Amino acid sequence: MADAKAFLNTPRLLRARRTVAARVHDWEEVYQRRALLPIISDQAARCMDCGLPFCHQACPLGNLVPEWNRLVSEDDWSDAVERLGATNNFPEFTGRLCPAPCESACVLAINADAVTIKNVELAIADHAWEHGLEPPRPPERRTGRTVAVVGSGPAGLAAAQQLTRAGHTVTVYERTDRVGGLLRYGIPDFRLEKHRLDRRIDQLRAEGTRFRTGVAVGRDLPADELRAGCDAVVIAIGATAWRELPVPGRESSGVHQAMEYLPLANRVVAGDLDRSPVSAQGRHVVVIGGGDTAADCIGTALRQEALDVRQLDIHPRPPEDRPEAQPWPVHPKVHRATTSHEEAAELRPPDLPDPDIRAYASATVRFDADAGGHVSAVRFADAEAGSRAPVPGTEHMLPADLVLLALGFAGPEHAGLADQLGLGLDTRGNLARDDRFAAGPDGVFVAGDAGRGQSLVVWAIAEGRAAAAAVHRYLTGHDELPSPITPADHAITPEDVPPLPA
Ligand SMILES: Cc1cc2nc3c(=O)[nH]c(=O)nc-3n(C[C@H](O)[C@H](O)[C@H](O)COP(=O)(O)OP(=O)(O)OC[C@H]3O[C@@H](n4cnc5c(N)ncnc54)[C@H](O)[C@@H]3O)c2cc1C
Ligand code: SF4
Repeated sequence: MADAKAFLNTPRLLRARRTVAARVHDWEEVYQRRALLPIISDQAARCMDCGLPFCHQACPLGNLVPEWNRLVSEDDWSDAVERLGATNNFPEFTGRLCPAPCESACVLAINADAVTIKNVELAIADHAWEHGLEPPRPPERRTGRTVAVVGSGPAGLAAAQQLTRAGHTVTVYERTDRVGGLLRYGIPDFRLEKHRLDRRIDQLRAEGTRFRTGVAVGRDLPADELRAGCDAVVIAIGATAWRELPVPGRESSGVHQAMEYLPLANRVVAGDLDRSPVSAQGRHVVVIGGGDTAADCIGTALRQEALDVRQLDIHPRPPEDRPEAQPWPVHPKVHRATTSHEEAAELRPPDLPDPDIRAYASATVRFDADAGGHVSAVRFADAEAGSRAPVPGTEHMLPADLVLLALGFAGPEHAGLADQLGLGLDTRGNLARDDRFAAGPDGVFVAGDAGRGQSLVVWAIAEGRAAAAAVHRYLTGHDELPSPITPADHAITPEDVPPLPA
């Protein structure tokens, strides 16, 4: 029997990590294997099952958090797997990668530590795979309708799985050699081991989804030919157009975009390459930018045995605690140290007293290069609050022979597919769609980062599910598939929170 007062009696406990010394010598997940099992039922019991579960509202998928918390606390794993699967196609990805806005919105978080919702989700997901509770679920009958999905990231995969299970014949087109989008060639193995992706793709295949890799629609296959050959198209090409840093010296060798660097490292782990042509081994590395991509560059560089790694972030250092301007249940911008930052702190050179390797409010001014044109230093200055312009007279220098730019993504690539289909753009340069995910041409839908802009895995899965519901309705006239979000939905912002009564 679960402890009804666990939220008072049981402290929040997280999944144990392997030591830094052990984990930086391999590419395996940073967490101890099976670390959740001994603690997770007690952690799930901390859920208060409150009347208005804000966690559920803060999750773009509408995950039924209080329900599966209760089921796990009662050791009813098979029902927990069923309830989690009802809203989330890929909980083993979100359980590892999601920033968990649900936990920021947990009612317990108002004055105590939130329930470890993400860890409960992960425990259920891993239990399902370990106990054969994730069999392929092919449809009982086929509709005879065909759908092409372009792009195999989490949005494309979620749309494909929903539509295949609904009986449509689905083919996913992917321009790279392997399926998975940024889960495959962006996020490193130490955060998502790729065998977890492969077994999910095997499940999709066994259900009937077909995959065609190495096909860039709009280049290898004309977009109008694709459109003419099927009943509907879902465009889930991501937001892969990276942001540039146009400062003097940018052309120096040794200055790379993060997404030139990370995929090569992932290919080494996959066995495609013996050594990355852009390796951090023996180098002074400077990562410019914040966010997950920058953190992944840091963790990757440390595993490649960089001499040292520093990070420049143009934003000021966020506060340690939730600021008043970002009240509960908003997912606040607070100072967070990722596992990569933890590693960098422990492995930093002895002359660096501050364990945080990040220099905040730092604007890059230029790159110095040696006689051979290879980057030798990064010059940066304090960034002015507001304009972020470099403040004259505050210049600093960091030695660098590998610089990685992790400045985020401007939006989807327009050349090729989008141009050939005549797709419109919204004001932010993303592919425009109406409130049912439909783009201009008849039968064409847009899902994921391509329509939303650079976002998160959980939003991509929600987009894929919702776009699939719209396609199913277009093909059959029926509103049968779940549609967790509209294109206009967004994370809870301070503006969404009503002011407290005076
Ligand atoms: C390094 C990194 C780390 C991240 N870490 C996190 C994290 O920890 N947590 C989190 O929630 N989010 C994270 N994200 C963001 C997350 O990965 C994305 O929001 C998510 O993958 C978007 O999914 P998507 O399916 O829309 O697009 P993508 O995953 O970008 O997939 C799009 C796919 O479309 C393919 N494609 C593009 N054009 C064509 C074409 N013409 N023909 C055929 N195929 C095409 C691409 O090759 C790609 O495989 C990270 C992103 C990066 C870059
Ligand atoms: S997907 Fe993310 S937001 Fe939703 S319940 Fe899981 S951790 Fe929370």
